[in-house]
Amino acid sequence: MRASATGRTLHDPKGGSFWFDAGAVCLDFAHTGGEGPYAVFESLHEPADLAEWLAHPSIAAVMTAPLTVHELTAAKALRQAIWDAAHARAAHRPLPAEAIETINRAAAAAPLVPELAADGTTAGWAPPVRAAQALSTLAREMIELLSGPLSGRIRECASDNCPLVFVDTSRPGARRWCAMERCGNRHKLRARRARQASDP
Ligand SMILES: [Zn+2]
Repeated sequence: MRASATGRTLHDPKGGSFWFDAGAVCLDFAHTGGEGPYAVFESLHEPADLAEWLAHPSIAAVMTAPLTVHELTAAKALRQAIWDAAHARAAHRPLPAEAIETINRAAAAAPLVPELAADGTTAGWAPPVRAAQALSTLAREMIELLSGPLSGRIRECASDNCPLVFVDTSRPGARRWCAMERCGNRHKLRARRARQASDP
């Protein structure tokens, strides 16, 4: 079983929310919060928040034991590494050694194990389902992304002040915005105003 459907609703600390599809579950995960200036976007406050995020259908990893604070800390370290690696790749910079090390360390754990149900047509994750396995699955997806055919499609939103990062999985590969209804429309509006202003 592979993580398939991507995209989550992101909440702005000022109140708004919008749908953002980063194109990969590991990249969606990188947008659950952060450090420093991104701490205001934190959505994983407690271990239960991480358990809920992982139980979402896009990865469907329902923990068979309560998540611990230690596991939440490990998850945030991996999240930061994915974020740093994605931004480095998007900017055509070498990946930070620390990010590579953190991603590799998470991937070294046993991943989630797929299990075919008795009906032979549906699948889930074989128990026990633990956080370290889910993090390994996310880390492995990120490794595939960075080393695979889509590695050149990792981009930051084209808006000047939007740090959201995604992998463009579209066939034409012309995706520019985190979300059309957010930065894409803002850009269109600005372009239209600029055109009107320059019209004689
Ligand atoms: Zn954007």
